[in-house]
Amino acid sequence: MVTQLPAPLIIAKRMGDVRIHTFISSFADDSIANATHIIESKNKLVLVDGQFLVPYAKQFRAYADSLGKPIDRVYLSHRHPDHWFGLAAAFSDVAIYALPETISFLKAHGEDSLNDHWKMGDLAPNNIIIPERSVSPGDETIDGVKYVFKKIIDTEIDFLLAIGLPEHQTYIVQDLIYSGTHLYLTKYMNHWIRILEEMLVSDYEFFMPGHGFPADKTEVARNIEYLSAAMQAVGDGLANSAFKDFMLQRYPERKCPGIFDIYLPRLFDGASEF
Ligand SMILES: [Zn+2]
Repeated sequence: MVTQLPAPLIIAKRMGDVRIHTFISSFADDSIANATHIIESKNKLVLVDGQFLVPYAKQFRAYADSLGKPIDRVYLSHRHPDHWFGLAAAFSDVAIYALPETISFLKAHGEDSLNDHWKMGDLAPNNIIIPERSVSPGDETIDGVKYVFKKIIDTEIDFLLAIGLPEHQTYIVQDLIYSGTHLYLTKYMNHWIRILEEMLVSDYEFFMPGHGFPADKTEVARNIEYLSAAMQAVGDGLANSAFKDFMLQRYPERKCPGIFDIYLPRLFDGASEF
């Protein structure tokens, strides 16, 4: 039986000689508005992340296939299950690239991560997939499009791959930005803010998040404000449910409050760093 989930949203935008497609899973129920992207150039497709829940991963794949160009590769931005699980469900035949640190973590802990999510039932994949190709920071031209790969350390995750398309003023930042949804907080909020501040004064104008809709610099600034408020609240001694209540009250417009229950035990009870 396949679980029925709310329909995803797909947004496509032409940017010169490429089209950038963003596939966003539902903001409701078990879903946290996972945003995955396709860079469609003249002859091929480059994808970023693989969705979380199996039905969305399959729909994302079907959408990519509907564009009528081969999928050249998928980049996995980081090791969190909501970006990685779907790859096993729908992209096992595609070359998957990731940072070497992401690959070694998944080799060591990927099976445990899947086992920890047994409650998801058929929304989780049956098996895992380990990316086999490593990507290093630097520039690369793929199908005539310039890509800039960056390794961002200690923000929402220890190692994050961010991908710039400088010719298109577009920066695929995944979980550096939560666009319109509550952020997944870590103890590295201060450093995270520094990274976002660099983005604010960069030449990039369009920011592709890991959750929510494509964003502009206003949303980057809002994320900085959110992180600052969270740091202040932690500094004031708020923790766990008191912290959650404070953030929900301060940001009633942000969606996907389910994320609090994922990170609170990590942030306040030391369950794990990320
Ligand atoms: Zn995420």
